[in-house]
Amino acid sequence: MMKCGICKAEMEEATVSYTEDIEQGVIVIRHVPAQVCTECGNTWYSGTVAAQLEKIVDKAVTSLSIGSEVSIINYTKSVA
Ligand SMILES: [Zn+2]
Repeated sequence: MMKCGICKAEMEEATVSYTEDIEQGVIVIRHVPAQVCTECGNTWYSGTVAAQLEKIVDKAVTSLSIGSEVSIINYTKSVA
């Protein structure tokens, strides 16, 4: 079991929404696997997931059309 880097409480596996603010708007990536602290809510992504998030955001930034300020992406579909 992982311990939280902030309060040392136990982390548990959860599915979260990751939000990235960019110049053009907001990118929301849903269904992201993460570890979440049961005490303080600190969220931690594994190296693989963090790398995927970066890739998804990069792709979304370049393909985000003018006028759509919010882009909602399903993590599980983007990785598959
Ligand atoms: Zn914590």
